[in-house]
Amino acid sequence: MSAVPKYPNFIDGQAVSGEDWIEVENPYTGQIIGLAPKLGADAADRALAAAKAAQPAWAKRAPADRATYLAKCAQVIRENRDELAKLLMAEQAKVWPLAQVEIDVTATYFDYYAGWARIYEGEIINSDDPQENIFLFVKPIGVAVGICPWNFPFFVMARKVAPSLLTGCATVLKPSSTTPLSTLRFAELIQDIGLPPGVLNFVSGGGGSLGAALVRNPLSDIVSLTGSVEAGVEIIKDSADKIMKTSLELGGKAPAIVFPDADLDLAVKGVTDSRLIFSGQVCNCAERAYVHKDIYPEFMDKLKAAFEAAKIGDPAAPGMAYSSQVDKAQLEKISAMVERAVAAGAEVVTGGKPADLGQGYFYEPTILAGAAQDSEIVQKEVFGPVLPVMQWDDYDQVIADANDCEYGLTSSVFTTNVSTSMQAIKDLNFGETYVNREHFEGIQGFHAGWRKSGIGGADGKHGLYEYLQTQAAYIRY
Ligand code: NAD
Repeated sequence: MSAVPKYPNFIDGQAVSGEDWIEVENPYTGQIIGLAPKLGADAADRALAAAKAAQPAWAKRAPADRATYLAKCAQVIRENRDELAKLLMAEQAKVWPLAQVEIDVTATYFDYYAGWARIYEGEIINSDDPQENIFLFVKPIGVAVGICPWNFPFFVMARKVAPSLLTGCATVLKPSSTTPLSTLRFAELIQDIGLPPGVLNFVSGGGGSLGAALVRNPLSDIVSLTGSVEAGVEIIKDSADKIMKTSLELGGKAPAIVFPDADLDLAVKGVTDSRLIFSGQVCNCAERAYVHKDIYPEFMDKLKAAFEAAKIGDPAAPGMAYSSQVDKAQLEKISAMVERAVAAGAEVVTGGKPADLGQGYFYEPTILAGAAQDSEIVQKEVFGPVLPVMQWDDYDQVIADANDCEYGLTSSVFTTNVSTSMQAIKDLNFGETYVNREHFEGIQGFHAGWRKSGIGGADGKHGLYEYLQTQAAYIRY
């Protein structure tokens, strides 16, 4: 049997091994496919010291010069597309087409932010004194820590690294211990693109150990986390004494509201794709649906047929809607939530239990009806292929129900009436609202959650400015 490959970390341009190693499992096959160093607080200190030392010289370079390295990252990703996509598919059972899309979008993301080099800018402000100019300069925050989740590990890595490097911050990136391999392979592949040592460091390890040490260390100036609300709360607490900027992209419980005039086939497809893509493990996808009572029976018939037609299995096989959940713990969490929902009065329309495929951690595509608005299944993130569907007949009430949630990441509406959609956009209190389409954001938009879904945001102009701080200069002449 061949040895399990080891994927080193990189600090200050040097490969780093661990005394302890994280075993990364392919959730579909159950095999250990790679080992990543399990580093702790010492490594956090070393990586941040390297970033701190490298950052001033990096910040002095022209943005257009820094952008060339982002373009090289994009090129490396494209040249190694297949290898990276296979690793991504294996470390989290992401179906092959989606794994390829994630790799491609990540390359585009680096190119997109490279294009901002000559665009981002400060301001010139009119002074009250005619003999004075006021300039607002934008400067890099300093040392940025990026902490990634397991669900879109490669794309979210770029979401942290690209704007950080472009603006002149040095970066320490920590992938999730569940899915570190694609990121660490990327780290290895970019070692010869000429980035100065220390500008971009990769360290792997646990959240409460390495992650917390990166946050608490006085050398980190901004922490950008994509992950759970629980981790966000810990990071706010751990950074409180430092008064440090945090950018938090956390969980969601997206409502999809279907109006009586909706194109039903479009709505069913949008909601189904949104709920089942990547086994429901997507922060911004439909987690609950509210369907008008006049179309509810027909909608449910079509939705049930769509859920029952979804093929699940080998992530490498063609035509799969989804594959295994990321691990046993996720499967058990989903099962327990559905059991509690049923005990609380919800009815299983289809699915409702783990699926035994002989391997992997599968849960059936599941629709629940009749769940109460204040029940756990309607209020808490499931992160699995489970959709509670509720009926509505009063506009104000359905908007109130949609907004009645501690999460405020995304939402969607399906209607053929532009006025209805505009009114709903105005009334929905979420960072994003999608009309007549499933939930996926554009890289030029702004992905930012309200309420417990986060602070700050990513993508586009506003995501770039997260890594900048302003300096106002008052110049009399
Ligand atoms: P998680 O919170 O368990 O882990 C995310 C990262 O945070 C990991 O790298 C982990 O090691 C680290 N971490 C955990 N505790 C920490 C601490 N105290 N200090 C520092 N780092 C710590 O989340 P997960 O299970 O990997 O991801 C799933 C969650 O992420 C879901 O809730 C999902 O909705 C959310 N998510 C949100 C977005 C978004 O853009 N809003 C995108 C993807 C995933």
